[in-house]
Amino acid sequence: MRRSVCLLALTTLVTALLSAPSPAQSPAPRVVLVQAGQLLDRPGRPARGASTIVIRDGKVLEVRDGHFAAASAGFPEAEVVDLRDRYVLPGLIDSHVHLTSDTGGVLLQLEEVQLEPPAKAYNALVNAHKTLAAGFTTVRNLGDRDGVTLALRDAVRAGKVVGPNIVDAGTSISTTSGHMDAALGFRDDLREALDRHDNLCDGPDACRRAVRLQVARGVDLIKIATTGGVNSRIGAGLGQQMFEDEAAAIVETARLYGKKVAVHAHGADGVKLALKAGVDSIEHGTVLDDECVALFLKTGAYYVPTLSTVNGYLERIAADPNAYSPAVRAKVDWRIRVTGESLQKLVPRGVKIAFGTDAGVSKHGRNAEEFELMVKYGMTPSQALVAATVNAADLLGLSAEVGTLEPGKRADLIAVSGDPLADITVLKRVSFVMKDGRPFRD
Ligand SMILES: [Zn+2]
Repeated sequence: MRRSVCLLALTTLVTALLSAPSPAQSPAPRVVLVQAGQLLDRPGRPARGASTIVIRDGKVLEVRDGHFAAASAGFPEAEVVDLRDRYVLPGLIDSHVHLTSDTGGVLLQLEEVQLEPPAKAYNALVNAHKTLAAGFTTVRNLGDRDGVTLALRDAVRAGKVVGPNIVDAGTSISTTSGHMDAALGFRDDLREALDRHDNLCDGPDACRRAVRLQVARGVDLIKIATTGGVNSRIGAGLGQQMFEDEAAAIVETARLYGKKVAVHAHGADGVKLALKAGVDSIEHGTVLDDECVALFLKTGAYYVPTLSTVNGYLERIAADPNAYSPAVRAKVDWRIRVTGESLQKLVPRGVKIAFGTDAGVSKHGRNAEEFELMVKYGMTPSQALVAATVNAADLLGLSAEVGTLEPGKRADLIAVSGDPLADITVLKRVSFVMKDGRPFRD
């Protein structure tokens, strides 16, 4: 009996496979014509005037000068998106977000022991929607504790939910008592419950294993901390907290699997340690000296400024002077005082900059506020836009897919009223977002 059921199932499967539609029967390609008033198809180069982007099946097919009727263009079935009164540019990229939350200070400490991972997953989805609505069609998530952003990444890729493309680092790695030690600030006897047992490493062997455990989860890159953090709930400073052999072991192991390494670092000693180990980006880099600048230029690593964090700090303190514990508040006040100094130092020297907010510390959906701060601290609007498109795409390893609107790339684009090269703040009011050829916000 069982055998005949098996046989029946097999026959059904074979019949289903044989009757599956062949490529010749697949539906006609979906063509969309986006008519742009002005178009910045390749940030860093001059904008074009009136243009039409021809999109086929979610990818840019070609970019033509002027506007024309769908039939005369040879695409009688095409949908037309009329953005003739707007300025169109590639979807923006934020190289540093944490989608699971944008709570901070003592409230975050509470959230970490109260919120179950499924609840965090819903928060991550809501924050992903806010991010996409703000015009950020690709993000790099640099650390969560429960793996929910990895699952969200896969759900977006599979088309199960709508969200920005996510490049995900899984759980960030630090040494015990370092920035990613989840037990900091809690009672000793809670360590067993809070420690993830996979992201803290002391010594090269343990650091190799920590990287491999993240690789095993399917991460896109590795995120580590070589120094203390502003939000680390102990007063252990913001200097180096990892040894050279530990950082070297992490980078070597990541390379075995073709993974890039992003580094949280505030103090110059931790920045140098990381750059000498050959990492791909320094996040925050709050204190930089001339040797750091030379190492950036020599290695070609990116600097990701995360200036928006200061907005998050100022807003929380304004709402509640006790939002942060005294040990953290001292670091927050320092970070507010010195913000922007590193960017001002690096821009004239030609160090590569990639846009990144650290949204999570600042509010999700307000990522574009970073542009204003980048311009305030020495970048031109064009440089800031390059950082959020071409450069971020390069840092994320996605230059073939996003960052510009050229044939073969994803049709991820946004529109604003006004010229962002004349007034960067127009990017705070994105009025149209398209991802993979489909409008998300109009
Ligand atoms: Zn961060």
